[in-house]
Amino acid sequence: MRPVDRALITHGHSDHARAGHGTVLATAETLRIMATRYGPDFAGSSEVAELGKPVRIGETTATFHPAGHVLGSAQIAVEAGGMRVVASGDYKRAADPTCAGFEPIRADVFITEATFGLPVFRHPPASDEIGRLLASTVQFPERAHLVGAYALGKAQRVIRLIRDAGYDKPIYLHGSLDALCRLYQSEGIDLGDLRPATVNAGTTDFAGAIILGPPSAFGERWARRFPDPVFAFASGWMRIRQRAKQQGVELPLVISDHADWDELCQTIRDTGAGEVWVTHGREEALVHWCQANGIAARPLHLVGYEDEVEE
Ligand SMILES: [Zn+2]
Repeated sequence: MRPVDRALITHGHSDHARAGHGTVLATAETLRIMATRYGPDFAGSSEVAELGKPVRIGETTATFHPAGHVLGSAQIAVEAGGMRVVASGDYKRAADPTCAGFEPIRADVFITEATFGLPVFRHPPASDEIGRLLASTVQFPERAHLVGAYALGKAQRVIRLIRDAGYDKPIYLHGSLDALCRLYQSEGIDLGDLRPATVNAGTTDFAGAIILGPPSAFGERWARRFPDPVFAFASGWMRIRQRAKQQGVELPLVISDHADWDELCQTIRDTGAGEVWVTHGREEALVHWCQANGIAARPLHLVGYEDEVEE
């Protein structure tokens, strides 16, 4: 949260990657994402962490392993004196065509996220949710379909899932999603025909079209220019119907880049950790689950961390 001399960064979301550190060690993709978001001078210097390759830092080694969360996302294993601590960063176990899949790493201490750390959170298959979106475009061909998706990771995953479902028409983007979509495409992730979602009288008719924008753009004038829009929102939080309703979301899509309850529990077992620290979300339920299963656990409260919405 604060600038430090030497930062090891799991992934490019703003609640994990801040500008202003001395030296940053992160995957090549995360470094590119940080440069895209914060400019080329986001740190004093940077060093690429290759997946699976230990980097010596004083008396310790740090090794990055894929976390399956967004492009470039990694867990970081730190080893010293025969003890291995693995910091998960954010992660998920479900397949994601836009990033390398999560690898369980043996750990003595596992630091896990807990964004969706309650048993009520069980994410459905993302392809089913995309199927509901595409069915709606068929059912309401006269209406624009506005899909809220966070700029890093979610937007690109949603687009790729739409393509995998066989939809090859242009997909329109709010300007704030453009740079990161281009970055993903330059990393070899084919997102198909993407076009700016600019409404110029007479040039494009958005009836039946799919338009992606950041959730914050829904309340803006930008959103009201489209014909009778269907508001959709791709987020794990859409599991909570009340939340969707409050946000005026007509078509909630339960698509998350975070582990759900079952994945969190499975992952803790897979690491074989004797001790678990729980952070970034709903700590209590997961701490309780660990203790009930004979695993020492405690919440890790981070100084300066604001409980941000899911990115
Ligand atoms: Zn994240």
